[in-house]
Amino acid sequence: MVVAYKHEPFTDFTVEENRQEMVKALEKVEKDLGKEYPLIIGGERITTEEKIISVNPANKDEVIGYVSKANQELAEKAMQTADETFASWRKSDPKFRADLLFRAAAIIRRRKHEFTAHLVKEGGKPWKEADADTAEAIDFLEYYGRQMLTLKDGIKINSRPIEHNQFHYIPLGVGVVISPWNFLFAIMAGTTAAAMVTGNTVLLKPASATPVIAYKFMEVLEEAGLPAGVINFIPGSGKDVGDYLVDHPRTRFVSFTGSREVGTRIFERAAVVHEGQKWLKRTIIEMGGKDTIVVDREADLELAAQSIVQSAFGFSGQKCSACSRAVIHEDVYEEVKTRVVELTEALTVGDPVDYTNYMGPVIDQAAYDKIMGYIDIGKQEGELIAGGEGDDSKGWFIKPTVFADVDSKGRIMQEEIFGPVVGLTQAKDFTEAIEIANNTEYGLTGAVITNNRAHLEQAREDFHVGNLYFNRGCTAAIVGYQPFGGFNMSGTDSKAGGPDYLIHHMQGKTTSEMF
Ligand code: NAD
Repeated sequence: MVVAYKHEPFTDFTVEENRQEMVKALEKVEKDLGKEYPLIIGGERITTEEKIISVNPANKDEVIGYVSKANQELAEKAMQTADETFASWRKSDPKFRADLLFRAAAIIRRRKHEFTAHLVKEGGKPWKEADADTAEAIDFLEYYGRQMLTLKDGIKINSRPIEHNQFHYIPLGVGVVISPWNFLFAIMAGTTAAAMVTGNTVLLKPASATPVIAYKFMEVLEEAGLPAGVINFIPGSGKDVGDYLVDHPRTRFVSFTGSREVGTRIFERAAVVHEGQKWLKRTIIEMGGKDTIVVDREADLELAAQSIVQSAFGFSGQKCSACSRAVIHEDVYEEVKTRVVELTEALTVGDPVDYTNYMGPVIDQAAYDKIMGYIDIGKQEGELIAGGEGDDSKGWFIKPTVFADVDSKGRIMQEEIFGPVVGLTQAKDFTEAIEIANNTEYGLTGAVITNNRAHLEQAREDFHVGNLYFNRGCTAAIVGYQPFGGFNMSGTDSKAGGPDYLIHHMQGKTTSEMF
């Protein structure tokens, strides 16, 4: 019997001993910087001329690693390997696959701070955020392993006399897993593990900004006993390798997490049936958000301000769940606004290696330029009341930025900025606040701060988001506790870390025998 699932506890870095361990882990990781990492196809290490250079976003000159880059030819080789391996892997024992994840989780847990330190460097994550990313990666492995054990014997259905009917979920085939850089460990590991534990073989294409953590995860899986060819590691250009594999007739499903732009492109391309293709491809597509916190008149206003600031600026607003708009009842607007500014101005920004910095950098130059562009737009659309400045001389740093009195239809209130920028707007009553919260094309997360029970119930029915939170912030979903995924243009609502997530990677088969 496997013990019941419980989420991995977060590390308390106010404890001196924990800080010391993290400092040691950072020193260890620093010694490893600048190494070369190959592709892994069928267990074979393949080094290419062309490299992806992963750098520390807090210090552009610090190279995290040089990672070999797949091209279409290597993507084809990986596809053939995964396709051949599927013939045997689909028959592997689900318990074997679950144990593999449990062992991988144990390996990561034993070296937890080392992984966390790596995320500080490669992802530019403050300690607390990096620790949560590592914990979530462990959670996904533990949770999906257990979910597979509950699904392995199928689901009970009815039979008539002298008839035996059975219903089982069987694997799909070769899955292409494409992950983002923001939860560089957790989402990459979670989406890969889900595809594998369900009996599929996998082509893993990690985000180009953060490929080294994915290589390290491959090493963990190999140490845990992953057979060659089951998961093939093929970092490469999204356009080049991504399009090739999404279009490939032997691709059975695509599991993508990333931007709306790329997600919709994959959705369209995967819908096209190519010559030699025998199925309609399955797509699991999780995209961006434009997430709102609603503050009611009868509310704990300190909680409201804290929730807005933490949800907007944790990991520099680079979470799909980040609060990028707050809709505040007009009677309490000024009070909440003043407190949001005070809290924002108290935040520290700098190299996340220093644990006292609340916010680190944004991921790269493109992100920096995009966010600074939105800050310029914000200056026309509202009043800049905090932040607004950036510095990209050493790393890509942007101050936490707040705009007040923004029209809810304005660009900074409608488009995903994916940086430390939040817009505040007023509503004349609660019903209007919910209408404003719903007036984007997204539907990922949202929160309501109120002491009015009727308003909570109204929000439960009318606030149309995949993850709705009451009297707390709108980030920090936990695997197995708050299954995560969004409505509308936020994606297919596959609910990562939820009880039905694995089923998206399988197909139901009915067998009926007459005795
Ligand atoms: P992105 O769309 O730029 O990239 C995601 C992945 O897609 C990367 O691996 C990239 O290389 C790859 N890619 C790019 N072009 C491709 C193509 N043509 N074909 C196939 N793959 C291609 O996103 P990002 O910048 O890495 O991540 C940030 C985005 O992810 C934000 O929009 C955020 O909201 C979203 N996100 C969503 C969730 C969720 O659960 N809904 C979670 C995390 C991040």
